Amino acid sequence: MTICYIGIGSNLGDRHKNIGKAIQSLGSTKGIILKRTSSIYETEPMGGVPQGKFLNGVLEIETDIRPKELLGVLNAIEESLGRKRTVKNGPRTMDLDILYYGDEIIAEDNLVVPHPKIEQREFVLKGLRELKRAE
Ligand code: AMP
Repeated sequence: MTICYIGIGSNLGDRHKNIGKAIQSLGSTKGIILKRTSSIYETEPMGGVPQGKFLNGVLEIETDIRPKELLGVLNAIEESLGRKRTVKNGPRTMDLDILYYGDEIIAEDNLVVPHPKIEQREFVLKGLRELKRAE
């Protein structure tokens, strides 16, 4: 089993409800144990597309699902919550990112871990600090 950190965000529809549902789906997936959830922060959108504020947080999970399959699980949850990939960096009902997968380093076309934008996102650093402090 590997400890992973997942970034979660929503800026479309009922943001709190979307986050609650995604956490519930993740926690009820076979092979995933939901360990801890950070505070949920309201953040300004990044990337230049005019859109509403996000609610964001960080989840700690333990899993035996390998990284690529885990990405598939996250994409399926995004889709189940009605995510449509229309505008790049545009509004989304659900965004789930793999921030860390244990201490693995992955550099593939469709999966880069640790997530390259960790340092640029204050809420990710805050959420990680919160969870790691509680270790
Ligand atoms: P986004 O629109 O920001 O959700 O980007 C989604 C795409 O980023 C997916 O198609 C993934 O293949 C790719 N991606 C690369 N690295 C990661 C990662 N660490 N976590 C989630 N998605 C990733």
